[in-house]
Amino acid sequence: MEANSRSTSGSPKDTDRRIGRRALLVGGAVTAVGTAVLARDELGRLWWRVPGVERPREDGEVDYRGARWVAASDANWRRADRPEDYSIDMVIVHVTQGSFEGAVRAFQDPGHQAAAHYVVGQDGRITQMIRELDVAYHAGNRAYNERSVGIEHAGFVDRPQDFTDAMYAASARLTAGICARYGIPVDRKHIIGHVEVPGTDHTDPGPHWDWDRYLELVRRAKTALPSESPSGSPSGSSSGSPSASPSDGTGRSADSSSV
Ligand SMILES: [Zn+2]
Repeated sequence: MEANSRSTSGSPKDTDRRIGRRALLVGGAVTAVGTAVLARDELGRLWWRVPGVERPREDGEVDYRGARWVAASDANWRRADRPEDYSIDMVIVHVTQGSFEGAVRAFQDPGHQAAAHYVVGQDGRITQMIRELDVAYHAGNRAYNERSVGIEHAGFVDRPQDFTDAMYAASARLTAGICARYGIPVDRKHIIGHVEVPGTDHTDPGPHWDWDRYLELVRRAKTALPSESPSGSPSGSSSGSPSASPSDGTGRSADSSSV
């Protein structure tokens, strides 16, 4: 009886189902949906999750609505497709040890070998220089670069007056948006200073950066966010996305540079 039932359960059908299922396993969101039939528009929205297919990019596009775009030299970052290839679970706070303009210039310089995604000024202005999709060389640690978004703040670590109200507020709104986009918890495990990156010899943002104040501002800004995601970014696509294999085969060493 048992043997009989085994032999009658048709194997061609099973094979079909396996192939169908495999074809659907192209991304985290699809996996979460499971083997259920996907609506046509959903497949349309997720076409770029197919391996080898990149999401469309437009020149000058920013991930944060309040940012102005100035491209960093492509020597200072690595093209990626986050959060599909690497999940993003961290924001790293930096201080430039120089002016806003000096940081923007340095990140445009291919010889600098390092850059952050964003630079925040003392007047609250924000320039985005590298897309969040891509891996910026800012932490001096390859794994941390791959999992984080880096934010520079104009000023010096030993000058508390450089960290203005406008800077804290603008940076907190930026970080709140990043946390919302990738499902990053607002806490000191996930929002860290460059000084906390393993292996770094950098001390930024230094002892005058007010973490309690900053995290409170991020929390408040996140609560105030509209439910829609800022332009240019996939909405809430990352929370269930699996972390991809860390090897990308490029073997670049510039990841060890930092800012
Ligand atoms: Zn730094």
